[in-house]
Amino acid sequence: MLKLSNIHTYYGNIQALKGIDIEVMEGEVISLIGANGAGKSTTLMTTSGIVPAKEGTVELNGKDITHTPPDEIVKMGVCQVPEGRRIFPYLTVAENLDMGAFLRQDKDEIKKDMDYVYSLFPILADRKNQPGGTLSGGEQQMLAISRALMSRPKVLLLDEPSLGLAPIIVKQIFSIIAKINQEQKTTIFIVEQNANLALKAAHRGYVMENGAITLTDTGENLLANEDVKKAYLGM
Ligand code: ATP
Repeated sequence: MLKLSNIHTYYGNIQALKGIDIEVMEGEVISLIGANGAGKSTTLMTTSGIVPAKEGTVELNGKDITHTPPDEIVKMGVCQVPEGRRIFPYLTVAENLDMGAFLRQDKDEIKKDMDYVYSLFPILADRKNQPGGTLSGGEQQMLAISRALMSRPKVLLLDEPSLGLAPIIVKQIFSIIAKINQEQKTTIFIVEQNANLALKAAHRGYVMENGAITLTDTGENLLANEDVKKAYLGM
Protein backbone atom coordinates (compact mmCIF):
# COMPACT_ATOMS: atom_id res chain seq x y z
CA MET A 1 0.00 0.00 0.00
CA LEU A 2 2.84 2.35 0.91
CA LYS A 3 6.29 2.02 -0.57
CA LEU A 4 9.25 4.21 0.33
CA SER A 5 12.20 3.60 -1.98
CA ASN A 6 15.71 4.99 -1.47
CA ILE A 7 14.41 8.01 0.47
CA HIS A 8 16.84 10.84 1.19
CA THR A 9 15.39 13.71 3.24
CA TYR A 10 17.17 16.86 4.38
CA TYR A 11 16.55 19.79 6.73
CA GLY A 12 18.70 22.45 4.99
CA ASN A 13 22.03 20.69 4.71
CA ILE A 14 21.35 18.23 7.56
CA GLN A 15 20.60 14.82 6.08
CA ALA A 16 17.97 13.08 8.25
CA LEU A 17 17.19 10.08 5.99
CA LYS A 18 19.96 8.33 4.08
CA GLY A 19 18.35 6.11 1.47
CA ILE A 20 15.65 4.20 3.35
CA ASP A 21 13.34 1.52 1.95
CA ILE A 22 10.10 0.63 3.74
CA GLU A 23 7.03 -1.24 2.53
CA VAL A 24 3.68 -1.31 4.27
CA MET A 25 1.16 -3.86 2.94
CA GLU A 26 -2.59 -3.33 3.09
CA GLY A 27 -3.99 -4.37 6.49
CA GLU A 28 -0.61 -4.50 8.22
CA VAL A 29 0.56 -2.89 11.43
CA ILE A 30 4.18 -1.81 10.91
CA SER A 31 6.41 -0.40 13.64
CA LEU A 32 9.52 1.65 13.07
CA ILE A 33 11.72 1.78 16.16
CA GLY A 34 14.94 3.65 16.90
CA ALA A 35 16.67 5.97 19.32
CA ASN A 36 16.16 9.71 19.69
CA GLY A 37 17.06 11.53 16.51
CA ALA A 38 17.29 8.37 14.39
CA GLY A 39 14.90 9.82 11.82
CA LYS A 40 11.60 8.15 12.74
CA SER A 41 9.44 11.30 12.73
CA THR A 42 11.09 12.47 9.54
CA THR A 43 10.10 9.16 7.90
CA LEU A 44 6.45 9.84 8.72
CA MET A 45 6.69 13.48 7.63
CA THR A 46 8.19 12.44 4.31
CA THR A 47 5.41 9.89 3.85
CA SER A 48 2.70 12.47 4.54
CA GLY A 49 4.35 15.09 2.31
CA ILE A 50 5.16 17.55 5.12
CA VAL A 51 8.94 17.25 4.59
CA PRO A 52 9.26 15.90 1.02
CA ALA A 53 12.15 13.66 0.02
CA LYS A 54 14.98 15.18 -1.99
CA GLU A 55 15.71 11.84 -3.60
CA GLY A 56 13.77 8.59 -3.84
CA THR A 57 10.04 7.91 -4.15
CA VAL A 58 7.00 7.47 -1.93
CA GLU A 59 4.22 5.46 -3.56
CA LEU A 60 0.66 4.95 -2.37
CA ASN A 61 -0.98 1.99 -4.10
CA GLY A 62 1.51 2.36 -6.93
CA LYS A 63 0.95 6.10 -7.41
CA ASP A 64 3.95 8.38 -6.94
CA ILE A 65 3.07 10.85 -4.14
CA THR A 66 6.64 11.99 -3.36
CA HIS A 67 5.84 15.61 -4.23
CA THR A 68 2.09 15.59 -3.66
CA PRO A 69 1.02 18.35 -1.21
CA PRO A 70 0.10 17.09 2.31
CA ASP A 71 -3.59 18.07 2.05
CA GLU A 72 -3.91 16.03 -1.16
CA ILE A 73 -2.26 13.06 0.58
CA VAL A 74 -4.85 13.33 3.40
CA LYS A 75 -7.60 13.29 0.75
CA MET A 76 -6.05 10.11 -0.64
CA GLY A 77 -6.60 8.44 2.74
CA VAL A 78 -3.30 8.86 4.60
CA CYS A 79 -3.75 10.54 7.97
CA GLN A 80 -0.98 11.38 10.44
CA VAL A 81 -1.34 11.69 14.21
CA PRO A 82 1.61 13.94 15.05
CA GLU A 83 3.97 13.55 17.97
CA GLY A 84 2.70 15.51 20.98
CA ARG A 85 -0.95 15.10 19.95
CA ARG A 86 -1.64 18.69 18.78
CA ILE A 87 -5.37 18.66 19.29
CA PHE A 88 -7.27 21.98 19.24
CA PRO A 89 -7.19 22.98 22.95
CA TYR A 90 -10.00 25.55 22.86
CA LEU A 91 -12.41 23.40 20.86
CA THR A 92 -14.50 20.81 22.65
CA VAL A 93 -13.86 17.10 22.21
CA ALA A 94 -16.85 16.86 19.82
CA GLU A 95 -15.63 19.87 17.82
CA ASN A 96 -12.16 18.34 17.55
CA LEU A 97 -13.78 15.21 16.13
CA ASP A 98 -15.82 17.31 13.68
CA MET A 99 -12.56 18.89 12.48
CA GLY A 100 -11.29 15.40 11.66
CA ALA A 101 -14.25 14.94 9.31
CA PHE A 102 -13.92 18.33 7.60
CA LEU A 103 -13.30 16.83 4.15
CA ARG A 104 -16.46 14.69 4.33
CA GLN A 105 -20.07 15.48 3.44
CA ASP A 106 -21.72 12.18 4.44
CA LYS A 107 -23.42 13.36 7.64
CA ASP A 108 -25.00 10.02 8.60
CA GLU A 109 -21.72 8.17 8.21
CA ILE A 110 -19.88 10.89 10.16
CA LYS A 111 -22.34 10.37 13.02
CA LYS A 112 -21.72 6.60 12.87
CA ASP A 113 -17.96 7.13 12.98
CA MET A 114 -18.32 9.48 15.93
CA ASP A 115 -20.33 6.82 17.78
CA TYR A 116 -17.63 4.29 16.87
CA VAL A 117 -14.77 6.39 18.32
CA TYR A 118 -16.85 7.04 21.44
CA SER A 119 -17.28 3.27 21.77
CA LEU A 120 -13.49 2.81 21.45
CA PHE A 121 -12.81 5.53 24.02
CA PRO A 122 -15.88 5.95 26.26
CA ILE A 123 -14.06 8.61 28.31
CA LEU A 124 -14.24 10.89 25.26
CA ALA A 125 -18.03 10.55 25.19
CA ASP A 126 -18.12 11.57 28.86
CA ARG A 127 -15.94 14.59 28.03
CA LYS A 128 -17.48 15.54 24.69
CA ASN A 129 -18.45 19.09 25.68
CA GLN A 130 -15.18 19.80 27.45
CA PRO A 131 -12.35 21.81 25.79
CA GLY A 132 -9.68 19.44 24.43
CA GLY A 133 -6.97 21.32 26.33
CA THR A 134 -8.50 20.30 29.67
CA LEU A 135 -8.06 16.57 28.95
CA SER A 136 -5.23 14.52 30.47
CA GLY A 137 -2.28 13.57 28.24
CA GLY A 138 -3.67 10.08 27.66
CA GLU A 139 -7.13 11.42 26.83
CA GLN A 140 -5.58 13.91 24.40
CA GLN A 141 -3.76 11.02 22.68
CA MET A 142 -7.10 9.16 22.44
CA LEU A 143 -8.69 12.30 20.99
CA ALA A 144 -5.85 12.76 18.48
CA ILE A 145 -6.25 9.16 17.26
CA SER A 146 -10.04 9.52 17.18
CA ARG A 147 -9.84 12.79 15.25
CA ALA A 148 -7.67 11.04 12.66
CA LEU A 149 -10.17 8.16 12.44
CA MET A 150 -12.93 10.66 11.64
CA SER A 151 -11.31 11.14 8.22
CA ARG A 152 -11.78 7.38 7.60
CA PRO A 153 -8.12 6.86 6.72
CA LYS A 154 -6.89 3.89 4.74
CA VAL A 155 -3.49 4.38 6.37
CA LEU A 156 -2.99 5.78 9.85
CA LEU A 157 0.47 7.18 10.65
CA LEU A 158 1.11 7.33 14.40
CA ASP A 159 4.07 9.31 15.72
CA GLU A 160 5.12 8.13 19.21
CA PRO A 161 1.65 7.38 20.62
CA SER A 162 3.26 6.44 23.97
CA LEU A 163 5.11 9.73 24.46
CA GLY A 164 4.85 11.01 28.04
CA LEU A 165 2.05 8.64 29.04
CA ALA A 166 1.72 6.29 32.01
CA PRO A 167 2.38 2.60 31.16
CA ILE A 168 -1.22 1.56 31.83
CA ILE A 169 -2.56 4.20 29.41
CA VAL A 170 0.03 3.23 26.80
CA LYS A 171 -1.12 -0.41 27.01
CA GLN A 172 -4.74 0.66 26.60
CA ILE A 173 -3.89 2.79 23.56
CA PHE A 174 -1.93 -0.04 21.91
CA SER A 175 -4.78 -2.48 22.44
CA ILE A 176 -7.18 -0.01 20.78
CA ILE A 177 -4.72 0.41 17.89
CA ALA A 178 -4.90 -3.38 17.35
CA LYS A 179 -8.70 -3.21 17.51
CA ILE A 180 -8.84 -0.44 14.88
CA ASN A 181 -6.59 -2.51 12.61
CA GLN A 182 -8.78 -5.59 13.01
CA GLU A 183 -12.24 -3.97 12.97
CA GLN A 184 -11.72 -1.18 10.44
CA LYS A 185 -9.01 -2.94 8.39
CA THR A 186 -7.00 0.26 8.70
CA THR A 187 -3.34 -0.10 7.73
CA ILE A 188 -1.19 1.32 10.53
CA PHE A 189 2.37 2.66 10.49
CA ILE A 190 3.70 3.45 13.98
CA VAL A 191 6.96 5.10 14.91
CA GLU A 192 7.89 4.50 18.52
CA GLN A 193 10.66 4.60 21.09
CA ASN A 194 8.77 2.05 23.21
CA ALA A 195 10.19 -0.84 21.20
CA ASN A 196 8.64 -3.57 23.32
CA LEU A 197 5.02 -2.54 22.87
CA ALA A 198 5.49 -1.32 19.32
CA LEU A 199 7.00 -4.64 18.18
CA LYS A 200 4.41 -6.68 20.07
CA ALA A 201 1.69 -4.76 18.25
CA ALA A 202 3.29 -5.08 14.82
CA HIS A 203 3.10 -7.67 12.08
CA ARG A 204 6.49 -6.46 10.91
CA GLY A 205 9.03 -3.98 12.18
CA TYR A 206 11.95 -1.87 11.03
CA VAL A 207 14.89 -0.69 13.11
CA MET A 208 16.43 2.67 12.28
CA GLU A 209 19.81 4.12 13.24
CA ASN A 210 21.24 7.44 12.11
CA GLY A 211 18.83 7.86 9.23
CA ALA A 212 19.21 4.33 7.84
CA ILE A 213 17.28 1.08 8.24
CA THR A 214 19.54 -1.50 9.91
CA LEU A 215 17.13 -4.42 10.43
CA THR A 216 13.71 -5.58 9.32
CA ASP A 217 11.74 -8.70 10.26
CA THR A 218 8.49 -9.80 11.85
CA GLY A 219 7.68 -8.10 15.16
CA GLU A 220 8.13 -11.43 16.88
CA ASN A 221 11.59 -12.11 15.43
CA LEU A 222 12.79 -8.59 16.20
CA LEU A 223 11.69 -9.01 19.83
CA ALA A 224 13.84 -12.16 19.99
CA ASN A 225 16.82 -10.57 18.19
CA GLU A 226 19.86 -10.23 20.49
CA ASP A 227 20.95 -6.83 19.09
CA VAL A 228 17.42 -5.44 19.44
CA LYS A 229 17.18 -6.82 22.96
CA LYS A 230 20.43 -5.12 23.99
CA ALA A 231 19.90 -1.82 22.25
CA TYR A 232 16.16 -1.24 22.60
CA LEU A 233 14.67 -3.59 25.17
CA GLY A 234 17.17 -3.06 27.99
CA MET A 235 17.84 -6.83 28.27
P1 ATP B 1 12.69 11.41 18.40
O1 ATP B 1 12.40 10.00 18.81
O2 ATP B 1 13.57 12.13 19.36
O3 ATP B 1 11.45 12.18 18.00
P2 ATP B 1 13.29 10.77 15.62
O4 ATP B 1 13.87 9.42 15.43
O5 ATP B 1 11.85 10.96 15.35
O6 ATP B 1 13.63 11.29 17.08
P3 ATP B 1 13.73 12.97 13.81
O7 ATP B 1 12.88 13.92 14.59
O8 ATP B 1 13.18 12.44 12.54
O9 ATP B 1 14.17 11.74 14.73
O10 ATP B 1 15.12 13.68 13.56
C1 ATP B 1 16.12 13.13 12.68
C2 ATP B 1 17.27 14.11 12.58
O11 ATP B 1 16.85 15.29 11.90
C3 ATP B 1 17.83 14.59 13.92
O12 ATP B 1 19.23 14.68 13.81
C4 ATP B 1 17.21 15.94 14.13
O13 ATP B 1 18.03 16.78 14.89
C5 ATP B 1 17.07 16.45 12.70
N1 ATP B 1 15.91 17.33 12.56
C6 ATP B 1 14.61 17.00 12.81
N2 ATP B 1 13.81 18.07 12.55
C7 ATP B 1 14.60 19.06 12.14
C8 ATP B 1 14.37 20.41 11.71
N3 ATP B 1 13.14 20.92 11.66
N4 ATP B 1 15.45 21.14 11.37
C9 ATP B 1 16.71 20.62 11.39
N5 ATP B 1 16.99 19.36 11.77
C10 ATP B 1 15.96 18.59 12.14
